[in-house]
Amino acid sequence: MDRDYKDICKELKNILDAKRYTHTLGVAYTSACLAMSKGVDMEKAYLAGLLHDCAKYMTDKEFIDYCKKHDIEMTDVEKANPALLHAKAGAYIAKEKYGVTDTDILSAIRYHTTGHPGMSDMEAIVFTADYIEPGRNHDPELPVIRQEAFDCLDKAICHIYSNTMNHLKKSDKTLDPTTSEAFEYYKAHIKN
Ligand code: FE
Ligand code: FE
Repeated sequence: MDRDYKDICKELKNILDAKRYTHTLGVAYTSACLAMSKGVDMEKAYLAGLLHDCAKYMTDKEFIDYCKKHDIEMTDVEKANPALLHAKAGAYIAKEKYGVTDTDILSAIRYHTTGHPGMSDMEAIVFTADYIEPGRNHDPELPVIRQEAFDCLDKAICHIYSNTMNHLKKSDKTLDPTTSEAFEYYKAHIKN
């Protein structure tokens, strides 16, 4: 890679807890691997993965205050679940604090939690890497999803949405409408 990103890693290690930092590295390397296998810019994918959770050190109140202060728009679902805001706040911090100007990278950070219908390659890669990085073990179907990610990314994305929605329903958590819209999109997309 052109840069070693030591400065960014050092800062992330400082502000994130140990578990989150390990997850961050897992997402960075998994994004880079997915990028390699799809012929996408590996270095950009690595940097997007590295910064995807860079805002995940704030409390709920801090997310709200931060977004108000920096004019980051909040939906009602986000106001009710401020942790969702770490994606939008993260894209803002990646730009303002870490100097990232590349819009591919910034939008991959911005959409890594919910995804959206018709994601770009970079968005799809970081969204998927966040779910499948080696440190994750929250879903018993992960071995299959990991394989799908390298065979057919859209199929993996569909699988991730399906399992995420089932999980959210079971645990009575609020569903961001973007998640269900994107699930419908990818379901229809892999059928064709
Ligand atoms: Fe995240
Ligand atoms: Fe993450």
